[in-house]
Amino acid sequence: MLKFNIQNIRKDFPALHQEIYGKPLVYLDSAATTLKPQVVIDAISNYYSTINSNVHRGVHYLSQQATDAFENARNTVKDFMNAGASKEIIFTKGTTESINLIAFSFGKKFIGKNDEVIVSAIEHHANIVPWQMICEEKGARLKVIPVNENGELIIDEFEKLISDKTKIVSVAHISNSLGIRNPIEEIIEISHKNGIPVMIDGAQGIVHEKVDVQELDCDFYCFSGHKLYAPMGIGVLYGKEKWLNEMPPYQTGGEMIQSVTFEKTTFNKLPFKFEAGTPNVADAIGLEAAINYLQSIGLEEIYKYEKGVFGCATKKLSEIPGMEILGNSSFKAGVISFNLENIHPYDAGTILDRLGVAVRTGNHCAQPTMDRFGIHGTIRASFGIYNTKEEIDLLVGALLKVKEMFG
Ligand code: PMP
Repeated sequence: MLKFNIQNIRKDFPALHQEIYGKPLVYLDSAATTLKPQVVIDAISNYYSTINSNVHRGVHYLSQQATDAFENARNTVKDFMNAGASKEIIFTKGTTESINLIAFSFGKKFIGKNDEVIVSAIEHHANIVPWQMICEEKGARLKVIPVNENGELIIDEFEKLISDKTKIVSVAHISNSLGIRNPIEEIIEISHKNGIPVMIDGAQGIVHEKVDVQELDCDFYCFSGHKLYAPMGIGVLYGKEKWLNEMPPYQTGGEMIQSVTFEKTTFNKLPFKFEAGTPNVADAIGLEAAINYLQSIGLEEIYKYEKGVFGCATKKLSEIPGMEILGNSSFKAGVISFNLENIHPYDAGTILDRLGVAVRTGNHCAQPTMDRFGIHGTIRASFGIYNTKEEIDLLVGALLKVKEMFG
């Protein structure tokens, strides 16, 4: 394992080293998507330059090499999350597709009229709309765990929502709009005591802490490669084998079948039952490269470093007069969502951009979260492995300029 060296790490990310409007880029939008290290870019390029081939179907050399590489990538993901078996790892396009898969497949089999699904008040639209759709289709009801003024889930209220009609609970590991880390262990324990399976939306979670799905004992866990320094277009759905075996296919076609006649089709075994069509081989290999990259630096080292930068950012931003941080909780990681008194987030974001600082503004695909706090949007600074305390100073300086201009 290499010693954590931020300057060396920054060198690994080519996109960091550019100027925006003549200013050095300060990239604070990693919750939307992370920049990619050169090893990931190389892994994708190498695949297309060498073993480019379709998988699971060719007898020829390249196809076998591509199949091995694709299945090795699955195995690396399995080890990374400590899943029980690689057949519990389904490759998808991303978190959105993973949640749609669960909502529609699990929902088709297990959700019926008058049943209930529980989500929380601070979910990304991707963990609301698919459940809303399946509930509508089935005549079921979507229930919402409320949050307190700090954006923390109110567990007592969650317990009151549970009934013998509850079929699944689906919550974020870390909220993308507030950065709050939900008490997923407690939610899983309470749900399981009531015999209810739990899905964790890990799009932001798996980036900032070690995830061990067996220890967590969650039934499903989803994430997107592109938020974990891997390419866009590849994501993961982990599901316990017992559920995946019982769930019907989500999409149909090639790959996911065992035999097809005009009278009847039988389905392939896991994980292929849920991977209809040609999979995204290159980006699965890219995801493996990203995981290997992070592990070569050392996950614990990364989390410790990120915590330091995050703590520094929280402190320095709080000191700005007129600063309103949304989600004042001590259980946070990766994301700081805020507003400056009397300044529209979009105006602030536009000025920050001119100063080379990339943040996101708006509702962060979490309109109900904004509604909960009676606002339309926030400025969101989100952090990755490559951010530094010096960049926090640049952000603070840029925000003070914004205040000066609009003050
Ligand atoms: N859930 C959360 C918590 C997210 O942050 C995101 C991405 N912003 C998603 C789901 C959707 O991820 P994707 O767009 O990669 O499918």
